[in-house]
Amino acid sequence: MTSTLLRIVTVMAALTALFGSAPAHAAKIRIVITLTDLADFAREVGGDHVDVFCLATGIEDTHGVPMKPSFVPRMNRADLLVLVGLECEHSFLPALIEASKNSRIEYGHPGYVDCSAGVSPVEVPLSTGHSQGDVHPYGNPHYMLDPLRARIAVTNICNALVASFPQYQADFTRNRDVYLARLNAKIVEWEAAAKPLKGVKFVSYHLHWPYFAERFGLDYFGTIELKPGIDPTPHHIAELIADMKAQRVPIVIREPQFPEKVPKLIAQQTGASLVKLPIMPGGVPRTETYIKEMDYIIHTLVAAVPAK
Ligand SMILES: [Zn+2]
Repeated sequence: MTSTLLRIVTVMAALTALFGSAPAHAAKIRIVITLTDLADFAREVGGDHVDVFCLATGIEDTHGVPMKPSFVPRMNRADLLVLVGLECEHSFLPALIEASKNSRIEYGHPGYVDCSAGVSPVEVPLSTGHSQGDVHPYGNPHYMLDPLRARIAVTNICNALVASFPQYQADFTRNRDVYLARLNAKIVEWEAAAKPLKGVKFVSYHLHWPYFAERFGLDYFGTIELKPGIDPTPHHIAELIADMKAQRVPIVIREPQFPEKVPKLIAQQTGASLVKLPIMPGGVPRTETYIKEMDYIIHTLVAAVPAK
């Protein structure tokens, strides 16, 4: 080895030792999160201790967030990976985890944070699997649209942060309690505001809304998709239109990731109101946080209920 090369190696080793021995609290906790609602919760609970990187911006399909070149290096360096679970992210996340080569965030490791832990899913099929093309093989994964169940995700994120970074336990639990108190107050407000939605029939493009409908008393009439993740057929659309007319279904929900053409046609044919509703923060303007998103959903739906 030449003396110049030796000097470079020595300097690099010294620098590595210097930065390697920096105190752990100097760096923020790096969290990669699949969807924007969970990212909002992680920012609330983690506060100044966390650096949150969210794969989705809010307008994507929860089952198919498109890959970007920045994802793999972010996941490679992540301390925690936070996800919805119940196979919601099945089509994109397992491959990303594998490509990231970061054992901390692999399934079963402390950095793998499945927010569905403790959530009792609805619509659990008798046999699980993706063989039918159904993207809900372990029950419906859209529990975040029920704010009571969403509180479980807040707690799961807090628990994961405390487990991996116990030195900040007091901050995380205080932030969690402050946020849950705000959310609880909003839930009372939402339940009062949603009274006109009781018994109101609606259809949506994808089966996003069973938890929301159950919480606020709506009557989920059907979906434009044949099954979750399966495109509608002309026969299914014709049948849906006939049934909606017969039952006077007043609302068609279009989620932002689906094209407007078919929902618009169904609304025109049936006389129903077409409303575009986000399924996570950022899906439409002025819904940057979970609380703003739920505010938007409830007020938009109430405004679409026909006068009696
Ligand atoms: Zn779904």
